[in-house]
Amino acid sequence: MNLSQDHLSVKTTCAYCGVGCGVKATPRADGTVAIEGDASHPANLGRLCVKGSALGETVSLDGRLLYPQLRMDGGLQRVTWDAALEHAASRWQAIVAAHGPDAVALYVSGQLLTEDYYVANKLMKGYVGSANIDTNSRLCMSSAVAGHKRAFGEDLVPVCYDDLELADMIVLVGSNAAWCHPILFQRIVRIKEQRPHVKLVVVDPRRTATCELADLHLPVKPGTDVWLFNGLLSYLARIGAVDPAFVGAHTNGLDGALAAADADCAEPAAVAAACRISLDALMEFYEAFAATAKVITGFSMGVNQSSAGTDKVNSIINCHLIGGRIGKPGAGPFSITGQPNAMGGREVGGLSNMLAAHLDLDNGAHRDAVQTFWSAPRMAERPGLKALDLFHAIESGKVKAVWVIATNPVVSMPDADQVRRALEKCELVIASDIVQDTDTNAYAHVLLPALGWGEKDGTVTNSERRISRQRAFLPAPGEALPDWQILSRFAQRLGYAGFDFAGAHAVFDEHARLSAHDNRVDALPRQFDIGALAGMDRAAYDALDPVQWPLRAGGQPTARLFEDGAYSHGDGRARFIATPPRLPAHQADDEYPLALNTGRVRDQWHTMTRTGRAPKLADHVAESFIDMHPQDALLHGVREGELARLSSKWGAMVARVQHGGGIARGAVFVPIHWNGQTASDARVGALVNPVVDPVSGEPEFKHTPVRIEQFRVKWHGFVLSRTAPQLDSVAHWTRIQGRAFARYELAGRNDIADYSAWARTVLGVDDGDADWLEYFDRSAGVYRAVHVVDDRIAQCIFLSPRLDLPPRAWLASLFAQDALSDADRAGLLAGRALAQGFDAGPTVCSCFGVGRNTICAAIREQKLGSVAEVTACVKAGGNCGSCVPELKKLLAETVVAA
Ligand code: SF4
Repeated sequence: MNLSQDHLSVKTTCAYCGVGCGVKATPRADGTVAIEGDASHPANLGRLCVKGSALGETVSLDGRLLYPQLRMDGGLQRVTWDAALEHAASRWQAIVAAHGPDAVALYVSGQLLTEDYYVANKLMKGYVGSANIDTNSRLCMSSAVAGHKRAFGEDLVPVCYDDLELADMIVLVGSNAAWCHPILFQRIVRIKEQRPHVKLVVVDPRRTATCELADLHLPVKPGTDVWLFNGLLSYLARIGAVDPAFVGAHTNGLDGALAAADADCAEPAAVAAACRISLDALMEFYEAFAATAKVITGFSMGVNQSSAGTDKVNSIINCHLIGGRIGKPGAGPFSITGQPNAMGGREVGGLSNMLAAHLDLDNGAHRDAVQTFWSAPRMAERPGLKALDLFHAIESGKVKAVWVIATNPVVSMPDADQVRRALEKCELVIASDIVQDTDTNAYAHVLLPALGWGEKDGTVTNSERRISRQRAFLPAPGEALPDWQILSRFAQRLGYAGFDFAGAHAVFDEHARLSAHDNRVDALPRQFDIGALAGMDRAAYDALDPVQWPLRAGGQPTARLFEDGAYSHGDGRARFIATPPRLPAHQADDEYPLALNTGRVRDQWHTMTRTGRAPKLADHVAESFIDMHPQDALLHGVREGELARLSSKWGAMVARVQHGGGIARGAVFVPIHWNGQTASDARVGALVNPVVDPVSGEPEFKHTPVRIEQFRVKWHGFVLSRTAPQLDSVAHWTRIQGRAFARYELAGRNDIADYSAWARTVLGVDDGDADWLEYFDRSAGVYRAVHVVDDRIAQCIFLSPRLDLPPRAWLASLFAQDALSDADRAGLLAGRALAQGFDAGPTVCSCFGVGRNTICAAIREQKLGSVAEVTACVKAGGNCGSCVPELKKLLAETVVAA
């Protein structure tokens, strides 16, 4: 084992996506943290994407939740841990006593470490006696779990990252890996450079950044993936591209799956028509798949987040099984996980329909084994409520207490206003979090401070089943505690034994021992087995190297599964699953004519609790947006750059219209990140239809019928301020983190009678003697004001009836200055730097802060023709590579000088 620390650096794991990159963090004396990639970590070999690189900008204590609080007299007030836990436990106990264990619930998160997840699951399923514990991982990968269980008999990802290097064809389905899993995508970029024959096919209704690398992009109609893969299954069978020996020896169910596929998808022309792609493109894909033995099919949220998500997963797996493209180097279906520890959550059974250690809740023998192992007094006897059902049960009063841990369902759930209603009604809402103010914490009766990344210790599992340590390198702030410890203290207060863990290592040890418990062919065999990691003391746990499960005899890790052709169903065979195609649950109509698709942007993560703090990540996409086809915009009377209101039957939001160029007619795309803390009205979850996959319970985030209309405003503006402005009279705002200030993009529907008085109210300047510079062009309706304190800019506000506001970059740079010069003051009134500088435009390369205009000018004037030349000229693309697809697009779009 390597030492986990060298000198002052600590090896840990990134807080964000399921790639699970190793990070070296070095705390500095000034309180900042230097971040670099861990060259020894197999997931990234030293590389980090821009989000990982910016982790050091996210560790400040601004806005942190530091002390336990109880809601008293209408507000949250600081109390001791004893008081907070006593209140929570006594109320919880009273509800269980009066209404039974199913009247309480936990709603947890793929952000939790495995040790936290393990304790939460043990508490609910073994001690409280209810399986009402679900997780936000329900929202991103439960369809993959269900698909794996149906096909393999266990939730198993067959491949490892190294298989990508061995493949001759990579298919990415519903995965914008360039933005959502950048280090994995950069690996594919290098594979394509070194082995240009490797064919990359991207299946996605949008032309995303990932498509810039693709040899073939199939822009399928949203929701038609099952047609595509059923058609492929049918085609492979028809042309004899079958591995009869593999199918005969290792699978069941081909006939049923083929019959279902042939029913609608036997004719490629019919499939092409259903998917709304050209027959030529379809056949190019089918013929390439049939002709290539080593194919990896990576899939992600575009597949999982659907009312047919589980069938989509199985339709992909079917195509791998029929030709034996699984369990071999460079071949297999590959679920690319969204969250940093969704996989760890799956190992401990963090979903409401799972038991711990890959055992089943609806299997009596499994329940007995776990009960014995835990010495559990009251085992849950049936699956609990899945996320959507849970919040409906809370609203109806069936569930009366919920503990929300490390997640923000008022933003992230579908029909998110329903979640708000549910929490408003709930008798007891406990929330554990790292920040004070979130849309969900606003409803907490008990608010508990948890440790965050850099402060907590434990393990996470990435998309290739690799367990890595997250290590603490910062002191615990305030009175914050690790989640496993908060849960354990709560459990002990309820009178439960079995929660006296000596540390995170002791929790991991129990988890590892449970994975090996009765794990024998004649008892409860399953592939998930990390028993070889049991028995580590704190020092050994601290030094644990990244390791892939299952660990075979002698503790040997396993990179690739199913090489022996043995699956986890009782008969040892994999299953073909019949997947009759069906469209998304709600179709567009005259009232709601557009299909809403939701997803991530490159530089933000989830609800921005962490990434929203990093100025480096703020400029790539500063505001939420509605991306749509220009002709649809024309048809619906909205214009690029202007605000529009998007609404569905369930809710509404406001954002700026843009034409990214990758959207088909009839569809719109909105990012998931913005919330009540970062924008006035941009929670897209409020619009998403509350429809779920019938097997997995995963919501259909990728398809909601919506309509769009103008959001008329009388003025536009922005504020840059070192303090929070008063925005009650502003119709629309977005907050963007800067260095030493925050920027607020504003729009108003109100008439401003007295601009000066109004601006002073917004900026909170009530001192008549304040150093206040002001410019007002009454006839044009243009107003600017600057508040200066001790010769430094403290705040500024710019307003105009049009969108012709000045670039913000120069103004932002003034906040870094110790004193304003006379030229700066004159420039502030003029609305621009007097010595006119070059406007770099919106950030494309966040690592080096290179803007779009800078890159386009270099391409034009220096006659640049490749990404390498752009990097050599302006540095963009020279670090993490996340912006390379955008550079390619700019190279294609920019006309070079003659
Ligand atoms: S790809 Fe980026 S966000 Fe994902 S784990 Fe690696 S550094 Fe973190």
